[in-house]
Order: sequence, then structure tokens, then C-alpha cells
Amino acid sequence: MKSHNIALACTLEQCQQGRADKTAMRWVDLHGNRTDYSFADLEAHSNRFANALTSLGVAPGEVVFTFLPKMPEQFFSFLGTLKLQAICGTLFSNFGEDALLDRLGDSKAVGIVTRKSLYKKLARVRERLPDLRLVILVDGDDDPAQGVVSYTRIMAEASAEFQVADTTPDTPSVLHYTSGSTGKPKGVLHRHGSLASQQATARDVLGLKDDDLYWCTADQGWVTGTSYGIIGPWSLGITQLHYGGGYDAQAWMDLIAREKVTVWYSAPTALRMLMREEEQVFTSADLSTLRRIYSVGEPLNPEVIQWSRRVLDHDIYDTWFQTETGAIMITNRPGIEVRPGSMGKPFTGIEPAILDDAGTPLPDGEQGSLCVKAGWPSMFVTYLNNESAYQSKFKNGWYYTGDTARRDPDGYYWFMGRSDDVINTAGHLISPFEVESALLEIEEVAESGVIGAPDELLFEKVVAFVQLHERYQPDRDLEIKIRLHVSNRASSIATPQEIVFCDSIPKNKSGKIMRRVLKARYLGEDPGDTSTLEI
Ligand code: AMP
Repeated sequence: MKSHNIALACTLEQCQQGRADKTAMRWVDLHGNRTDYSFADLEAHSNRFANALTSLGVAPGEVVFTFLPKMPEQFFSFLGTLKLQAICGTLFSNFGEDALLDRLGDSKAVGIVTRKSLYKKLARVRERLPDLRLVILVDGDDDPAQGVVSYTRIMAEASAEFQVADTTPDTPSVLHYTSGSTGKPKGVLHRHGSLASQQATARDVLGLKDDDLYWCTADQGWVTGTSYGIIGPWSLGITQLHYGGGYDAQAWMDLIAREKVTVWYSAPTALRMLMREEEQVFTSADLSTLRRIYSVGEPLNPEVIQWSRRVLDHDIYDTWFQTETGAIMITNRPGIEVRPGSMGKPFTGIEPAILDDAGTPLPDGEQGSLCVKAGWPSMFVTYLNNESAYQSKFKNGWYYTGDTARRDPDGYYWFMGRSDDVINTAGHLISPFEVESALLEIEEVAESGVIGAPDELLFEKVVAFVQLHERYQPDRDLEIKIRLHVSNRASSIATPQEIVFCDSIPKNKSGKIMRRVLKARYLGEDPGDTSTLEI
């Protein structure tokens, strides 16, 4: 029987196809130091991790998270967890303690791989996570009093041989939490069968070939970081560059030139930041090996494409997908003319539609709900512990993405916005509800309403309307306190860019915050129908 295990496809199967000595990961740390890991290394490290988890009592089907910045251990743990058929969740390293508590608690995670500096945040909420019995520190020693074990020790003691049990396409695989506009974040669960979509799109959209050096800048906390920073490319035996540093235009261009990157997958905010740099940054680096540039996560402005054509001598191919879709659904790619501002056309086998509120297809040119015909291989299998929310996303065989879009007569799709209040800041989906909840924990805050407002760099910025209890006055110190609190509780990305102090927060008669009214107020626009507004 053929195993459908994602991690096997990325490791052992590559070795069996003659790539044991081929570099799977070129790891470049913050200081520019380079370490190469072959596919045989990936195989051995992930086997060791699977054995270590087994000996520590983790069973298939249980949830283990990684809570790490980009570093080699992130990849070994992810693959090892999947080999064991445990579910691997990934967390952004900028998450605060409430964000951790929500995700680890909801999923009843039994284990987490992290590092000392990040463990401090987890330690503050660990008592409230009764299922979390295993904390593995990549840079720490065993410390029974703290309840932590050393990654180095468990890996050294584990065998490099691991027999992966038969894995079916329906075996659960990866877990990512995504934000909605109401309620807590939802755990989007995927299955090993998603590999079919991730591999096909890595081959036919990203166009990855055996001799490519591919760089995906996405963090592994995000679906792009797992689908296209791990699964798709390695399942094709491609060498991936992973870089431990953050945004730095000169360092990035030097990296592309030095490592001879051929295919680069990034995001609009980073590309817009690059566009603001001196052109000399790009002309002084030898970028001649670069064959293709791709983008995902937010709308890609036409100006960025024009800039790239002029300065980098390349088109940028915008791709559209979501945590829930697991793989690219609508996309630009070579062979199809790029229409700047459009997300492109559906990938082979994907059938999108623009539907009105009654579920009727709209004529070309009209804006409606962007839907996808259910049943593609990487479609999520549920929202963990929230099957009703999952079911509510499907109607008459269509999956409702939550985005609005239009199609032009030539079949190109154009992103228009979200049909909910979710904020997309620099590609990160932020729940206004999560930020509002964090704000309400602050003593001085009586009410709050959070919206996304247009931003030239980030696409959207987080704007918090805050009503204080009567005895308090707004000042600079309070603003700082509010920002710090949201950063520590939710994440640094969710921290409001702007705080507007106000006398009241508009709510409807059932007490729901009317963010639409706040947004109109912020933008100086007509708030529309306010008949349900409670004054
Ligand atoms: P996430 O699930 O965090 O990956 O976010 C998915 C959402 O990001 C989509 O529903 C869109 O709202 C937005 N998004 C992703 N890719 C694009 C794109 N190419 N153009 C416009 N919006 C995008």
C-alpha cells in the first residue's frame, strides 16, 4: 500500500529517488553563516524526532505545536511529528500569552517545541493548560522542576531509523489557527492528502525544477510557511533556502545574489518595503539567477508589479489562497499574461465562482462572494471543536471563502475585500474581537471597537477606538500601556497602529459593536443604515 505521509514524501522518498546527498535546506542564520542539510539529514533528524516523541509518550492523533522562529529545529520537529501521525500545529513566535492559551487550550495540545526566550510567555499560562504535558526546549537543558526537556538530549538518545505507519489521505496532518471576526481563533485542520494540491501547485505554479534554489520568506506559523516553505517544495526534492534574519533590503538582495536564488516567494508588504528603498540596493546586487518572483497574502498593488518590471526586470506573480484552502487556488503564472491588480486565474481542477447572497452566480464584472467548488485535495477537514462553524462555510457544495471578488470577461479574478471584519495587516489576519478582548482587560478601558483601516505599506492597519472609564483621561503613557498590553496578550502584529479615544462605541440593539460605523467615522464616510444603532 502506498503511504500518503507528507513527511515521508519530503524525506525518505527523496532519498530513494537518489537525492540522499542533495541539499534539502540551505540554512543561513542571522549573521550570514550557512549550514547545508541534505535530504538524508532531513530523514535522520525527523526520524529521531518521531522516535523521541514516541518515547515521551506522544501518540498518533495528539497535537504537538512548534513555537519557534525560523530555525532548523522547526523543520525537523514538523516532519518528525507528521511521521508519527501526530498533528503538527505551528505558532508565530510573536504570539502573546492569551494567543498561546487559546490555541493550546482549544486543541488540547500535549506537546510544544520552543526555545527559552519564548518559553517565558508560555510559563505564565502553563498552569491553565492541563493537557500540555511535554515542553521541549531547543536551547535548554532538562529541568524537571520547570517541567521541560532538552531537545538536544532527546535527539541524541533517539534512533535515526523510524518506521512510519501506513498513512491514508485522510490521516490528520497540520493545524493552523486562523482569526475570524467573532469568537476565538479557529483551528483549521488539514490531512495528509493535502500533499497532492501542494505538490501540484509547487510544480505547476511556482514552476520548481530539480536544480532550483527556492526561497520562501513566509514564517512557518502561517500556511504559506508550511505548504510552500516545507511540504510542496521538499516533496519535489527542491533545495530550499531558509534565512533566520528579518527584513533587510540589502541583506536580502545579497542573499539572493550569493546563494543564487532562482525562485522567490514573498508577500506584498515586504515587496512594498523594497519598493521604497534606493534603487542602488537592487542594481548593485547580481540578481541574474532569479527566474521568478511570487507573492501571496494580501492584494498586490499594480505599482509594485510595475516597479518590479522596471527595477528587477521581472513580473511578480500574485497567488491567492487561504489557511482553509491549504494550497494555491487562483493564481498568476508564466504562460498567462499578468494583469496587474488581478489574482489571476483558477489553478487546474479548481472551480471558483462569484455568487450573490442567495447563492446565484453573478455575471462577469459584478462583485460578490468568492466561492470554490468543494472537494479539492487540500481542502481543510474541519475547524477543530467547531464543526458548526465549518458547516456554515459550505452551501450547496460551494465553500464560501469570506472574500469578495469579481471576475472579468477573460476569466481573471480581482480581489475586492473581505465580507467580514477580519483585518489583514501585512498578510496577517487579525481578529478585531481578539484585540477588543485584550483591550477590555486594561483597567482604564470601558469599551473598545477595533477596525482595519487602509494603509499604504501594511495594506490595513489596526485602529482601536477606546472609551475610557469616566475617571481616566487619555495620555501618552496610557497609549503605551495599551499597546504593550495587546502585544503581550495577543501578538505584536495585532498591536494597534492608531488609538482613537472616544466618548462612546456604537453598538446595535443586541450589544454588538458596529465596526462598520466606526470605520465610516474613521474614513469620514457615510455610515449607511444605522437603524439598529443603540444610542
Ligand atoms: P490566511 O488564511 O491567513 O492565509 O489569509 C487568507 C486571506 O488573505 C484571504 O482570504 C484574503 O483575504 C487574503 N489574501 C491572500 N492572498 C491574497 C491575494 N493574493 N490577494 C488578496 N488577498 C489575499
